Amino acid sequence: MAGIDITGLSVEYPNGVRAVDGLDLRVTDGELFALLGPSGCGKTTLLRTVAGLEQPAAGAVAIGSRELTGVPPGGRGVAMVFQDYALFPHMTVAENIAYPLRVRRAPQARQREAAERVAAGLSLSELLDRRPGQLSGGQQQRTALARAIAVEADVLLLDEPLSNLDARLRLEARTFLKRLQRELALTTVFVTHDQAEALALADRIAVMEAGRVRQLGTPREVFQRPADTFVANFIGSTPMNLLDGTARDDGVECAGARLPGPPGLPGGAPVVVGVRPEYLSVAEDGLTGRVSTVENLGVTSLVTLECAGGVLVSLTVPEQGEPAAGEVLSVRPAPGRLLFYGAEDGRLLGVR
Ligand code: ADP
Ligand code: MG
Repeated sequence: MAGIDITGLSVEYPNGVRAVDGLDLRVTDGELFALLGPSGCGKTTLLRTVAGLEQPAAGAVAIGSRELTGVPPGGRGVAMVFQDYALFPHMTVAENIAYPLRVRRAPQARQREAAERVAAGLSLSELLDRRPGQLSGGQQQRTALARAIAVEADVLLLDEPLSNLDARLRLEARTFLKRLQRELALTTVFVTHDQAEALALADRIAVMEAGRVRQLGTPREVFQRPADTFVANFIGSTPMNLLDGTARDDGVECAGARLPGPPGLPGGAPVVVGVRPEYLSVAEDGLTGRVSTVENLGVTSLVTLECAGGVLVSLTVPEQGEPAAGEVLSVRPAPGRLLFYGAEDGRLLGVR
C-alpha cells in the first residue's frame, strides 16, 4: 500500500502543448481521490504520467517512498483502466481479466478464481467466455475495470471509469467501486469531468484547469467553499449565482438590494457575490425580481428571477411552492452561504 507524491510536475507534448503545468499533489495511502475538470485540462495526461506512459518535462512522481523517474510502467505497482478500455480482442473476458496474473505466472486455478470473484462483483459472471467484440460498451468497460482490480497493484488509476455506462448501471458501478475500494483499501485515483460523480465518490477532489490544480479538498469543502469563481462555476448540479456587487459600509449592494458583506472591503470596491440556488429562499425583502422561467428538477424546481439591471438570479423551491412566471419575489441567502470573490482575480475573499 502506498500514497502518491507528485511534485513540480510538467508534461509537454511534442507539439508544444503543456498539458500539465508545474503541478503538486499528494494522494494519501488508501484514499479514493478524484481528478475533476473540464475536457482538455490535463487529467488523462497526469494519470498516464503517474503510470509511466508519459515522461515529465520537469518534476517527479513517487509512489510510497519510491521515486519513479525512469521506472517503466510495469515496474511501478500501478494498474490503469483506460478510457477506451484497451482490451485484447482475441481473448475471452476471463482471459482478459486474468491476463496480468498470467504475465506474472500465477497458477491457473488462481487466475480463474480471481477472474470469477472480480467478475461477480461487476455483473460479468455470465460473460466470462465471451470476447470483447461480443460485449456492449458498458460490459467492455467493466471488463477493463475487473482486469485492473484483479492485478492487486498498490495504486489503481481509472480514467473516466463510469462515463460509458448507462445511468442506472453507472449508479450501481459507483456503489460497487466505492465498496470495493474500501474493502481493498487501495489507493485509487479516478478521473472524471462529472462533478456529481466526484462529489459522490471521492474522499478528496482536485479540481483542475489548464494543467493546474485550482482547488484541493473534500467534496464538502469544494462544494461549500469553492476557492475561486472557476470552481464555483464548475461544481454543483445547478450553476452557482455569481453576481456583480459593490462593497458598502453596511454590506454589499447587489442587484438593487443590500446583502450582508464580508468584513474589510473598502467602500465602493467591486466584488463578485456567489450563492447557490439551493441556499436562496423566498423572504420579505432581499434580491427582488420577476420570475422569468421555472424549470422542473424533479423534487424541486429551478426558478430564475430577473432582478434590477437585468441580473438573473436562480433559486430552487419545493415542487409545491412553485411560483408563476411574471410573479414578483424577494429572496435571501441562508446564513453562512454567501460567498465573496475578488472582482479581478476571482479568488475567495470571505463567507457570510
Ligand atoms: P483531459 O483528459 O483532461 O481531457 P488530456 O490530458 O487528454 O485532457 O489533454 C490535455 C491537453 O493536452 C489538451 O490540450 C490536449 O489537446 C493535449 N493532448 C493530449 N494528448 C496529446 C497528444 N498525444 N499530443 C498532443 N497533445 C495532446
Ligand atoms: Mg481524458
